[in-house]
Amino acid sequence: MEGNTFNSNDAYSVSLLEAALESVASAIFVFNEEGNLSFANQVARDLSLARHEEAGLMKVVDDVKLAALDGTFQELEFSLYGPPKRDFTIRTSAPFGNRDGGVIVTIEDLTTRNQLDIIRRDFVANVSHELRTPIGALGLLAETLAFEDDASVRHRLANRIQNEAFRVAKIIDDLLDLSKFESEGSKNEDEISIVDLALDVIENINPTAENASVKVTLEAGEGDFNIVGDPIQLRSALTNLIDNSIKYSEANSEVIVAASEEGDYVVISVTDHGIGIPQKDLDRIFERFYRVDQARSRQTGGTGLGLSIVRHAVSNHGGTIEVESREGIGSTFRIKLPRNRKGDEK
Ligand code: ADP
Repeated sequence: MEGNTFNSNDAYSVSLLEAALESVASAIFVFNEEGNLSFANQVARDLSLARHEEAGLMKVVDDVKLAALDGTFQELEFSLYGPPKRDFTIRTSAPFGNRDGGVIVTIEDLTTRNQLDIIRRDFVANVSHELRTPIGALGLLAETLAFEDDASVRHRLANRIQNEAFRVAKIIDDLLDLSKFESEGSKNEDEISIVDLALDVIENINPTAENASVKVTLEAGEGDFNIVGDPIQLRSALTNLIDNSIKYSEANSEVIVAASEEGDYVVISVTDHGIGIPQKDLDRIFERFYRVDQARSRQTGGTGLGLSIVRHAVSNHGGTIEVESREGIGSTFRIKLPRNRKGDEK
């Protein structure tokens, strides 16, 4: 790489180096050979303005500094138990390869990385568990089928195999949608009429609604319901919400899909008079694989991924989603989407 060489006598080079250290995300403390602080970057200064939970961390900095001045350089992990828990790696090194030049202590905050690791591990465990159940069932059903002579039982077993295979396919399809929506943001930018989209989704979902004896109605007054967005993602969001409202309603009830305008936003809501969601679960239903009632979700072909897909699709459009629900009374999911996000892209 071409560039000027660093010159320690040149004030410009020194302040450039200091500015570089200031911009580093880790805390950097430099102590002289007497153990007095000669430099701390911004992150280090913030940490040393110890509120009481960070005082523990500064005590470790002091301990490792003294050990380094005695010739023991180390790297250790340290956690503050909060809450929230925070994890750090603390390292000591010598500036010129010998301790006579003082000690450098760096602190790297590993909290976010560790949290992401936990989320990824949990996700892999959940996916494996979710797939294991239908695949186990497929194996058993096929084994039984192989030794069954009665044609009607064979027919029933074959049906169940088909259902389990459908379930595996649905989990995989939902996982693919989720990962696509997560990774691509909202790729397509089309002019979409939310009302036309809702009408189309309702028409497609009608056989499911009729099967469950649930009536789905669209209510939209006069207005401009156009937004710029990704039709595939918005269709998937609406389909999941309406599908849920049918799944979690009793026969002969009604689902209302309503569109309205709120300034620069288009609002679309889905209201059912179904089983509702307990207050304590409202915060968690958008998490992957979270279900209030495992058995009911499975029995209705749920994967526990629908609302995560909805949440991603909505946030990719710079929108918000809210839910209001009362057990035994019903639920309303309300999506608010900005009409036009041009100039507001990620
Ligand atoms: P699932 O595939 O299980 O329906 P979702 O992610 O779509 O997964 O929803 C998560 C959970 O939220 C569901 O299992 C259900 O317990 C609850 N839920 C979602 N929508 C509704 C609704 N309209 N009425 C009652 N409960 C709902």
